[in-house]
Amino acid sequence: MMINSIYTQREIFIRELISNASDAIDKLYYKALTDETLAFNKEDYFIKVTADKTNRTLTITDTGIGMTQEDLENNLGTIAKSGSLAFKSENEAKEGHNIIGQFGVGFYSAFMVADDVTVISKALGSNEAFKWESTGTDGYTIEPCEKDSVGTEIILKIKENTEDDQYDEYLEEYRLRAIIKKYSDFIRYPIKMDVKGQRPKEGTENEFEEYEEEQTVNSMVPIWRKNKSELTPEDYENFYMEKRYGFDKPLTHVHIKADGAVVYNAILFIPENTPFDYYSKEYEKGLELYSNGVLIMDKCADLLPDYFSFVKGMVDSEDLSLNISREMLQHDRQLTLIAKNIKSKVKSQLQSLLKDDREKYEQFYNSFGRQLKFGVYNDYGANKDVLQDLLLFISSNEKKLVTLDEYVSRMPEDQKYIYYASGESVDRIEKLPQTEMVSDKGYEILYFTDDIDEFAIKMLTTYKDKEFKSVSSGDLGIESEADEKATEAEENENKDLFESMKGLLSGKVKNVRASKRLKSHPVCLSTEGEVTIEMEKILKAMPN
Ligand code: ADP
Ligand code: MG
Repeated sequence: MMINSIYTQREIFIRELISNASDAIDKLYYKALTDETLAFNKEDYFIKVTADKTNRTLTITDTGIGMTQEDLENNLGTIAKSGSLAFKSENEAKEGHNIIGQFGVGFYSAFMVADDVTVISKALGSNEAFKWESTGTDGYTIEPCEKDSVGTEIILKIKENTEDDQYDEYLEEYRLRAIIKKYSDFIRYPIKMDVKGQRPKEGTENEFEEYEEEQTVNSMVPIWRKNKSELTPEDYENFYMEKRYGFDKPLTHVHIKADGAVVYNAILFIPENTPFDYYSKEYEKGLELYSNGVLIMDKCADLLPDYFSFVKGMVDSEDLSLNISREMLQHDRQLTLIAKNIKSKVKSQLQSLLKDDREKYEQFYNSFGRQLKFGVYNDYGANKDVLQDLLLFISSNEKKLVTLDEYVSRMPEDQKYIYYASGESVDRIEKLPQTEMVSDKGYEILYFTDDIDEFAIKMLTTYKDKEFKSVSSGDLGIESEADEKATEAEENENKDLFESMKGLLSGKVKNVRASKRLKSHPVCLSTEGEVTIEMEKILKAMPN
């Protein structure tokens, strides 16, 4: 019961047993480092996975350090004992840095798929071997047995299929290969399997012959552990495609090798195109999370803020426990640090792209810029420091995308505000009478054509101490005192006219006033207060 509640996916029992085997080889390796009488030839150390359909057994063999009778009793013990072991101090286990397992429950995941588990082991420096056997529920037995070499063999008697549960797949070669590839591809030792196949028979044209050979299933060296200087852009591209992070190509990548306050490796990608479901509820953000080369989560959402949800890739940390649950991860200090680090790395990657390769940045912005603007709008502008310099808007200046910094740095000295105009399209905006006076002054106007633009800007309120101002707002901050006086006078003169116009348009407008901002147009609509006409339109269109 406990085992079934810890793991939601049964297939991970293979990951657990392989990790244990890898740990056991690591232990031997460490011993060899400090003991001159032990020679460690990497070639002699491997893990082997063998399926036997006839006997319904799956065997995982390793050439690791092995277990003594005492070890078998203490380490495998009984499930009940392991239950308390499982939640033992996390820190205690953290000492062995390269050792994957940390909670002491991994081994029992075998009982999710097997109704009988046999462990045959011979420990380093021992002349005898022992056999441990258990059906999971009624304890275990240990007896002496024969085994030539040091190491461990774990034999699972795979359960029979039932109406609800399928177990046969754990005896299928292709399925086992796929599971190993998925979770244990980067285990440092070879994971071998006997592979059966057909190949063209030599000397014939259309004849085939059966063959069986031992193959190494895992690739062993993770690309993220390699030096950046060893890797080409194609290597990263291949990794992106192998991992199916997307069906497109990556636009850019960041390879992080952090060894400061928090130690981790990561490869992050920004896709070239917007995934088809990106702006829908179905899209799930997240990065793959590895603990020391072993995949522990497909999509760890906690590693990415929503506004960077387009980032794909993986993180590998030695400091995370293999068996950590989602709930525990949320409170994991290491993970919080990694997430913070990733956020700033993605930001600086985008900033340098903006600086060094404007074309590529604009391509990125066309795919994911909306998400950045949502990011500014959400959380009441709490993320504005991260995001404001990454925003682009079309401007009246050559109708090109500009940054806020570019806008502000070009502002004439007498210009007080950052002006913007909202509308469906650049063409529509350019025809707005409201833009006339601002343009006439020689001021640049940002064109907001995306629904979210004006809402996001309202959250920013200012950029470099300059306030944003809609060209449709009542007071543009352009009129001189003399202008104001003249307008006032005009308004008094035409009081009766305006009053009757207001009467005719009652219910449609709040007021009719003289305006100084019009040149070639006779009339324009303007708003009072914070919500502009464009915003009102969007708010009205939104479902309640
Ligand atoms: P963990 O790996 O988290 O310690 P497990 O339940 O996976 O917990 O394994 C329990 C213990 O059993 C391991 O810590 C290790 O001491 C021992 N063990 C399991 N598998 C092997 C193996 N193949 N070779 C040597 N020791 C093993
Ligand atoms: Mg383990």
